[in-house]
Amino acid sequence: MTDAHLRSRGDGDGSNRDLTYPPLPEALVVPVYDNHTHMEIADGGPDGALDYREHLDRASSVGVRGVVQVGTDLATSQWSAAIAAREPRVLAAVALHPNEAPLLAEQGLLDEHLAGIEALAALPRVRAIGETGLDFFRTGDDGRDAQVRSFEEHIRIAKEHDLALTIHDRDAHDAVVEVLDRVGAPEKTVFHCFSGGPDLARLCSERGWYMSFAGTVTFKNAALLREALEVAPRRLLMVETDAPYLTPTPYRGRPNAPYLIPLTLRSMADTLGTDPSMLAAQIASNTELVYGAWDAEPVTVDE
Ligand SMILES: [Zn+2]
Ligand SMILES: [Zn+2]
Repeated sequence: MTDAHLRSRGDGDGSNRDLTYPPLPEALVVPVYDNHTHMEIADGGPDGALDYREHLDRASSVGVRGVVQVGTDLATSQWSAAIAAREPRVLAAVALHPNEAPLLAEQGLLDEHLAGIEALAALPRVRAIGETGLDFFRTGDDGRDAQVRSFEEHIRIAKEHDLALTIHDRDAHDAVVEVLDRVGAPEKTVFHCFSGGPDLARLCSERGWYMSFAGTVTFKNAALLREALEVAPRRLLMVETDAPYLTPTPYRGRPNAPYLIPLTLRSMADTLGTDPSMLAAQIASNTELVYGAWDAEPVTVDE
């Protein structure tokens, strides 16, 4: 578990958190994918942590057909690639998180770990480089050079291996766009946990960048996010959990997991005034276009 991620929870007050998983939502009629999750990060209280297979089984039971498992450092990226290699419901994204890059640079390890990420990029079920990008919420001025350099290297790797790019953008919209415009964004670029307003949504639309909405779009105070959702062309929409963080309403503060995607999907359909099955079909097809086929026949992996 990366501390960069723990610190980014920003939800719940940490004291009286209810650590039990929310109940299973009603299954989706048309299945979708969770295109951003961290199944290796244990949550759910002392006894409640779920094995990745349990996550996937619960997800399958409510119409979440597959997930993109996202690494945030070399170890979790290696784990993500290994799980994807043997589990048809999982594809992997690999990267050094923007909050990790300055720490690695300080230890003189950034280049070595970037080389490790590049080695994983060649594997057939690694379909995205990410999450990478910029995080000015957690990293001050002194860490920014390392963050930008790491981001640029990840972009190069994505282009060289013809993979999607998963962007983490926290309080850094202008700078992220500046880097992408300057070095040239990969053809398939996804803003994970889209956090901009309608202006950023318009800018992403012009450039053909995908916008992936997380549980935040269901939050009461997220009117701007919902405006962004309405502005975004349907062909550029995706849905994700960013589990175990950002649990959708009405379960904020409790652990998140891929099986809760239907809550966010239905809330998005509500905002758009469209049928959830229509939206799910569009989003599933967008997701397959970006990452390729999952090969989603569920299989039993014994080990
Ligand atoms: Zn992120
Ligand atoms: Zn994430």
